[in-house]
Amino acid sequence: MKKNDLITLTIEDMGADGAGIGRYGGMAFFVKDAVIGDTVTAKIMKLKKTYGYARLMEIKEASPERVEPRCMYARACQLAQMSYTSQLAFKQNKVKNHLIRIGGFEERFIDRVMEPIVGMEEPFFYRNKAQFPIGTDNLGNPVAGFYAGRTHHIVANTNCVLGVAANEQVLKIVLGYMKEYGISAYDERMQKGLIRHVLIRYGFDSGEIMVCIVANGTRLPEESALVERLRVLEGMKSISLNTNMQNTNVVLGEHTRVIWGEPVITDALYLRDTADFHRIGEKTVYRISPQSFYQVNPFQTEKLYSLALEYAGLTGKETVWDLYCGIGTISLFLARSAKQVYGVEVVPQAVADAKQNAAINGIGNVEFLAGKAEEILPAFYASGDLEERKRPDVIVVDPPRKGCDRMCIETMIRTQAERIVYVSCDSATLARDLREFCDGGYEVERVRAVDQFGQTVHVETCVLLGRK
Ligand code: SAH
Repeated sequence: MKKNDLITLTIEDMGADGAGIGRYGGMAFFVKDAVIGDTVTAKIMKLKKTYGYARLMEIKEASPERVEPRCMYARACQLAQMSYTSQLAFKQNKVKNHLIRIGGFEERFIDRVMEPIVGMEEPFFYRNKAQFPIGTDNLGNPVAGFYAGRTHHIVANTNCVLGVAANEQVLKIVLGYMKEYGISAYDERMQKGLIRHVLIRYGFDSGEIMVCIVANGTRLPEESALVERLRVLEGMKSISLNTNMQNTNVVLGEHTRVIWGEPVITDALYLRDTADFHRIGEKTVYRISPQSFYQVNPFQTEKLYSLALEYAGLTGKETVWDLYCGIGTISLFLARSAKQVYGVEVVPQAVADAKQNAAINGIGNVEFLAGKAEEILPAFYASGDLEERKRPDVIVVDPPRKGCDRMCIETMIRTQAERIVYVSCDSATLARDLREFCDGGYEVERVRAVDQFGQTVHVETCVLLGRK
């Protein structure tokens, strides 16, 4: 067996990143874009001792789990060739495998505590946020689209089927304006040109649209021409210019200037009954600015937060800490059922938004603290403050993909909170962190995955830890 050999294999499993896995000559091969149940011909690209990577050349026999993707660029999404039911099974398994392999939990135990994944009703057109890179095509025309896998080459595509219809209308206007006035797209290699990205947010409940143009400069030529065209779109609420003059992969720069309308849009999330996830009336309203983190799939977010609330088991008497709280989304969801909530968040703008969000919802029993969770919580603990009214009965954490800081976990364990609810967007770091909690005297009581990201390999997970 050597590089460039053609092999025929049947796909029996899938890796966490969505690549098909089949066996050939005693070795496991990863074949991107192949689906469980496919028999494929693939070309060996790389050989390691016990496994290798092969490129899909031909599907000899298509898996019954295959579907016709809705978009010609489906390969950019890892699972778009799979039926949605199979995608859910894949995600349930992915979380389970991480808990077993990385967390070191027994399979029997995981089967006992893990509930069935919560799927989406409509696994398309769900994203409320899109960030389109802007570039120039071979003919010199401005284009918007997405980066081709692992590169910064832009594939032109203005109507991604994961996003909302407004995206295409906005992009048409921006690209038309650029063409008409000869406004350049930013060129990363040369670090020249003006327009870098177009960020669009849409409030599914409010119908409000936000457009933020990210530019390598502090002003746009013929700014009013652009504003005149964008402002007439139904729902347009906020148009801003963000300046990013750094040579960086980070999309947004630090400074944002409103060029028309409001600095924020609002949206609302509804509490749901976790028995069947229908909405049960009570809604919380949020103000969202271009920089703040806000979950991209509002329907599933409602399910996720309602589940987190149920896991928190609040009776109205508890002090709750919500670490990594963003604009206070989970904190406000919890506050109505708690005595007092403390939210901790590192981005100052998000903390300011969180405070406003508490105010517009008339929620008074929440306080937001700006800073790193791994610094604020230990500082409170050290000051003795946590021993009195601020001692948490319940802690909720919702960290970024890299998971919780060790120091933060240690302090959480020392506070002896009755329950810890861990909301995670990366089951690998979740599994790692759960092991720490379990070694520190907690046990996993419930686990449930909630799919927020149909067609992709990503999945959210909610876990309840109780003190042994
Ligand atoms: N719970 C919120 C936000 C979750 S995203 C929601 O569901 O909307 C994770 C958040 O953690 C982001 O807002 C990010 O800014 C914040 N964050 C990242 N590192 C942090 C740290 N070390 N301490 C506190 N917050 C942090």
